[in-house]
Amino acid sequence: MIVILKQEADKEKKAVLKGKLKALGFDIHESKGRETELWGLVGDTSIIDDDYLRANEVVEDVKRVQEPYKMANRKMHPEDTVIDIRGRKIGGGHFQVIAGPCSIESKEQIIEVAEDVKKSGAGLLRGGAFKPRTSPYSFQGLQNNGLKLLLEAKAATGLPVVTEIMTPEHLELFEDIDVVQVGARNMQNFQLLKALGKCDKTVLLKRGLANTLEELVMSAEYIMAGGNENVILCERGIRTFETSMRNTLDISAIPMLRKMTHLPIVIDPSHAAGIRWMVEPLALAAIAAGADGLMIEVHNDPESALCDGPQSMTPEGFDELMKKIRKTVEFFGKTMD
Ligand code: PEP
Ligand code: MN
Repeated sequence: MIVILKQEADKEKKAVLKGKLKALGFDIHESKGRETELWGLVGDTSIIDDDYLRANEVVEDVKRVQEPYKMANRKMHPEDTVIDIRGRKIGGGHFQVIAGPCSIESKEQIIEVAEDVKKSGAGLLRGGAFKPRTSPYSFQGLQNNGLKLLLEAKAATGLPVVTEIMTPEHLELFEDIDVVQVGARNMQNFQLLKALGKCDKTVLLKRGLANTLEELVMSAEYIMAGGNENVILCERGIRTFETSMRNTLDISAIPMLRKMTHLPIVIDPSHAAGIRWMVEPLALAAIAAGADGLMIEVHNDPESALCDGPQSMTPEGFDELMKKIRKTVEFFGKTMD
């Protein structure tokens, strides 16, 4: 339920109403925009009568939120959410590029790629330590040692780091990780989502291979309902009948998610295409469609990569792409700093 407050509403009278609503057991999420101030009421709102609230002199209007997602709903928070990751802002006109290898493979590899992507202007470094692989015989990531190497790359470059978590038990290992990624295959791992809701880390939540946008936003809601509102959504391609690419990038997800939610939206063109040369057109299309950021796989030697080599860009290719990304971001009125 949304309570829209009158512009000139008396502060003390607002406080009295807020006290009453809290006493009724509601969590109140305040959202103050340039022209509107509203409270999002989360809880069992069936116990409250709309007209009782409307009759209050500080209340302009009352609206019911029909959608099952409340905290992630744009109606509850009309302004875009801006998330600050150690000084790197994303959302609300701030654009970020996350780049790095699919998997951390060695100290030399991760540090070299980190330095290269930093030079090209990436704002965050990615690298998988715990890898969700289709085959149990494929490289599973360097795991604990991978996290250690990623933190060394963070120390060497100053870039905030993004890496995937596969189980809540690992959360304590992620203490110095800046952004915790929930991979596509874990989008509905509700135990993991609940655990992330209890921590204060930014979560990059990837859309599942065959999940609807509402299911994606509901997964974000799980994290937010636990108290962690720092969630970034990531569209990374979905399963369709098309087989000429690894997945199909759902560009429509960007404007639709923008309407549904206030959370930042990142596009991962690398996993969407699975093909190196397609990363550029998809990345630029994503910016044009309104994305707040990109996540791109870059490897110093894609031919010998232990995971996702065919979709990984070389540092040189990424550098060229970054020039186009920067121009496109600026053309669409966003900032990359
Ligand atoms: C990844 O980012 O390396 C990854 C495994 O992505 P996804 O979960 O989207 O497949
Ligand atoms: Mn990958």
